[in-house]
Amino acid sequence: MTRIVVLGGGFGGMEAIRVLDKRLGHRTDIEILLISDKNYLLFTPLLPQVASSLVEPRHIVQPIRDIRGRRRFRFRRDRVERVDLAARRVHLAEGVVDYDRLVIALGGVTPTFNIPGVERHALEYKTLEDASLLRDHLIDLAEHADHEPDPAVRRRMLTVCVVGGGYTGVELISELQDLFESYVVPTYRGIGPADYRLLLLEASPEILRGVHPTLAEKARRRLWHEGIEIRTSTRVTRVDAGVVEVESGQTVDVGLTVWAAGVKGHPALAGLAVERDRLGRVLVNGHMRVPGHPEVYGVGDAITIEGHPEASIPIIPAALAHARLAAENIVAELAGRPPQTIEFAPQGMLVSLGEKHAVVEVLGVRFSGYPAWLFWNALHLYKLVGFRKQVQVALDWGLAQWFPRDTAIMREPPHCAVCAHTRPRRRDAA
Ligand SMILES: Cc1cc2nc3c(=O)[nH]c(=O)nc-3n(C[C@H](O)[C@H](O)[C@H](O)COP(=O)(O)OP(=O)(O)OC[C@H]3O[C@@H](n4cnc5c(N)ncnc54)[C@H](O)[C@@H]3O)c2cc1C
Repeated sequence: MTRIVVLGGGFGGMEAIRVLDKRLGHRTDIEILLISDKNYLLFTPLLPQVASSLVEPRHIVQPIRDIRGRRRFRFRRDRVERVDLAARRVHLAEGVVDYDRLVIALGGVTPTFNIPGVERHALEYKTLEDASLLRDHLIDLAEHADHEPDPAVRRRMLTVCVVGGGYTGVELISELQDLFESYVVPTYRGIGPADYRLLLLEASPEILRGVHPTLAEKARRRLWHEGIEIRTSTRVTRVDAGVVEVESGQTVDVGLTVWAAGVKGHPALAGLAVERDRLGRVLVNGHMRVPGHPEVYGVGDAITIEGHPEASIPIIPAALAHARLAAENIVAELAGRPPQTIEFAPQGMLVSLGEKHAVVEVLGVRFSGYPAWLFWNALHLYKLVGFRKQVQVALDWGLAQWFPRDTAIMREPPHCAVCAHTRPRRRDAA
C-alpha cells in the first residue's frame, strides 16, 4: 500500500487532494490521507467582511467532510508538530503517521520581525478566529467609547492602526471604514464622525506592492478620500498596549493594533534540514519537490520555488497551481513518467476598497470604482466553495442593504493586553 499524505486543508491542500482523489481514488493500492488542524476550508478573501460584521463567520467556511462527499480520501483532524524527513514520518499532536509521498501545504504565518510587543499587544489577522476576535474587539471598543465623556480619550479608543499596506491590510482598513461610517457612527449616539481614526502603516515607500502602480495610486487616493491616514516608509519598532512606536521614535496613541504584515514560513517546518528563503519558506524546485527528498512536495504559502519568483507569491491562484502540479507529478511518478515544471504567472489582482469600490486588473485589463467592485463581488461569490455558502454570503450582502449589521458580541473579549487601556473604568460607577 502506498500512502500519500497531504498536510493542511487550505487552498493548496484541498486542491492537491481533489486532483489526487480524481486521478488515484480508484486505486485500492493507494491510500490518500489529508491532515489538517481545522475541519474546514477557509475562504480568506472574505475575512475582512467578517471583521466588519458584514458577513457571518460560518458563511465563509466549508467543512472538509462536506467537500469530500463521496470522494475516497480520508481526513484526520490533527495538528502537525514536525516532519521527520529521514524516517518519512509526520509527528502529530495525537500520534504519528508514516508516508510514502508527502505534500506539505501548511500555509504560512504572519512575521513579527522580532518587533517587541507585537505578539502580546497586536491582534493577528489570518484565521477565522482572528477575524471574529477583531470584530468583537471593535464592537467592544465602540460600546465603551459610546459613554466616554472625554473626546480625546474617545478618539484614542477608536483609533485603529493596521500595520501592513499589502492587499490584506488595505482591504481590512477599507472594510473598517465602512463599519464605522455606515454602522458605528449612525448607531452609537455618543460617537460622531470625528471620534474615530483609521491609520495604515507601511514600512516600504508604497502600499499595494505588486499591484499595477496606476491602480495602487487609485487605491491610495480612494483611501485618502475616505479619511484613512496612510503612512508609508514608516517602520514600526515597538507595540505596547495603546501605543505604537515608529522608527523615528514617534509614538501614536491607538485603541487597537492589527498586524497584517505579510507571510513567513510555517513554524512546524522550522526544524527541517532543508533550504529556505529569507522569510523561512521551504525551497522547492520547479517540480514542487523538496531538493534531496523527491518523495516530498511543497505547495502554497509555505514554500518558495527556486528560480520562479513570479510563481512564489502568496496568493490563492499560485497555491492552486502549485497543488495541481504537485498532485500531477505524484501521479506521473507512480506511472513512471517524468515530472512537469511549474508554469505560473499571476493573471491579475483584485483589491476590494470597501462598499462599492475596488481596483481590478485581469488579463491586462485595468479598471476601478463600482464596476470593479461588482466584478470583485461576482468573482468571489463564484469562487466560494458550495452553493449553500454562495447563497448565505449573497444573502448577507443583500440584507446589509436593508438591515443594520449584526454586531452582537459573541465572545466577551478577554481582559487582554491588546486594548487593556480601554477596559471599562469604574470612576463613573457611582
Ligand atoms: C486576510 C487574508 C485575505 C486574503 N485574501 C486573498 C485574496 O483576496 N486573494 C488571494 O489570492 N489570496 C488571498 N489571501 C492569501 C491566501 O489566503 C493564501 O495565499 C492561500 O490561502 C495559501 O494557501 P495554502 O494552502 O498555502 O495555505 P492556507 O490556505 O493558509 O492553508 C493552510 C492550512 O493548513 C492548516 N494548518 C496550519 N498549521 C497546521 C498544523 N500545524 N497542523 C495541521 N494543519 C495546519 C490550516 O488550518 C489551513 O487549513 C488572503 C490571506 C489572508 C490572511
